Amino acid sequence: QIFGDRKNSLGLNMNIHSQADDFINAVHQYRDKQWQGGPIVNGDVVDAHHKVAIHSPQNTSHHIGTICWGDKALAEQALKSANAAYRRWRDTDVEVRASALEKLADLLEANRIELIALCSVEAGKSLQDGIDEIREAVDFCRYYAQQARELMGEGTTLPGPTGETNELFVQGRGTFICISPWNFPLAIFLGQVAAALVTGNCVIAKPAEQTGLIAFRAVQLALEAGIPGDVLHFMPGSGAEIGSFLVSQEEIGGVCFTGSTYTAQAINRALAARTRAIVPLIAETGGQNAMLIDSTALPEQAVTDIVASAFKSAGQRCSALRVLFVQDDIADRVIDLLKGAMAELKVGDPILHETDVGPVIDGAAKSNLEQHVNDITQAGRLIARAPMPEYTNGGTFVAPTAIEIDNINQLVKENFGPILHVIRYKTSELDTVIQSINDTGFGLTFGIHSRNETFAADIARRIDVGNVYINRNQIGAVVGVQPFGGRGMSGTGPKAGGPHYLTSFVTEKTRTNNI
Ligand code: GLU
Repeated sequence: QIFGDRKNSLGLNMNIHSQADDFINAVHQYRDKQWQGGPIVNGDVVDAHHKVAIHSPQNTSHHIGTICWGDKALAEQALKSANAAYRRWRDTDVEVRASALEKLADLLEANRIELIALCSVEAGKSLQDGIDEIREAVDFCRYYAQQARELMGEGTTLPGPTGETNELFVQGRGTFICISPWNFPLAIFLGQVAAALVTGNCVIAKPAEQTGLIAFRAVQLALEAGIPGDVLHFMPGSGAEIGSFLVSQEEIGGVCFTGSTYTAQAINRALAARTRAIVPLIAETGGQNAMLIDSTALPEQAVTDIVASAFKSAGQRCSALRVLFVQDDIADRVIDLLKGAMAELKVGDPILHETDVGPVIDGAAKSNLEQHVNDITQAGRLIARAPMPEYTNGGTFVAPTAIEIDNINQLVKENFGPILHVIRYKTSELDTVIQSINDTGFGLTFGIHSRNETFAADIARRIDVGNVYINRNQIGAVVGVQPFGGRGMSGTGPKAGGPHYLTSFVTEKTRTNNI
């Protein structure tokens, strides 16, 4: 897509074998690399004491590197330095900040083979997901650079009586604490950081515990792109220790968080308990995302989109489909096709081209998901489980699973993996279905398959979510095309990759001048 003078980053068509083979060979050269990372404060990598060995989720005996974790003293030092740099960075011309992000985007593209390999070995991402991850990170950098130029250039002149000028400006807020998830270890990590930096904030970036090495490389590239070392600090560590410590500090400008609803609520409480500035929390959390298929839908198309929405990225997207509502008249046909499609899914090592579904992130995730499958199967009826690979090498694989249940209230929480729940409904029950989806309190994505346009438009209006997708899959929002984010228990907004996102990172100043 081309937007004015900005283009979204190009991917790679993996169906063109000659291109795909070269790409795969290049990625494989990084397979056995050992990566090292640690906190970065004032541009220097700190050799902290707490060293954590990182193993690959697809082969838990494959040691891929080591990351050092920061501690409270180091976090305090980083915050002090960031706060000291804040006014200088805030008053730097927006052009300097925007150009640095564009340079970072170029560096991400130049290093994309290594980053894709790292996404695969550290986060268990399939090659296609790795390609998309780098593209999204690049798009966030370029998009926010463009948005910042519009938002932060000259102030807006407002009307006033003769002899008086009125102007409205926006400025950064201070030091943002950016806390990001492991499921988009580069794209969301950098999306948050880029938005905060370009609007004139300093940043302390705390990556997910599971994916610190990818984030470390991203910060190295950001510094190489010209972001000053006192403006961007990197603080890997445990959420319970470093994350909570940072968000409870008085002298911060805001928090940008993507992860569980539970943690977002805890951050909200920590921010409320502080006694000085009232600062924003930008949170993007989970969902109990549903799709509704009515009897006019095309079953083949619906099933392709169900499989992508529920099982791509091993279901580890907050946008992923969790609960499929299918109209009774068409349900048997859809379920039959779904069984067939699931039997064809290839679960396995994500670095192999043929793999559709890689591992889940770690052993804890796997056992929670298996426990859920066990429990819910007792209450419902198992439809299918995709075949598991013959050799798992201790990898944390979970077979994509579909289970028929009676209603959405049987699900007490979001199950963040390749588990799809299917519910049949009768047309006379439609209002109850809509109400039950809205009553979950989540509001992230929703899919509709229907050939009846009026019906689809009506349902789209009544469902309380941030992103509705009609007659397609419901994942993979594209920067600048499908601004992404939810409401209610799914997040605060504004939407990532959308025209209003940067506004939460700034504060406004009106200047009235009686000349
Ligand atoms: N933006 C992603 C998508 O549309 C999901 C982001 C997330 O999982 O946090 O698939």
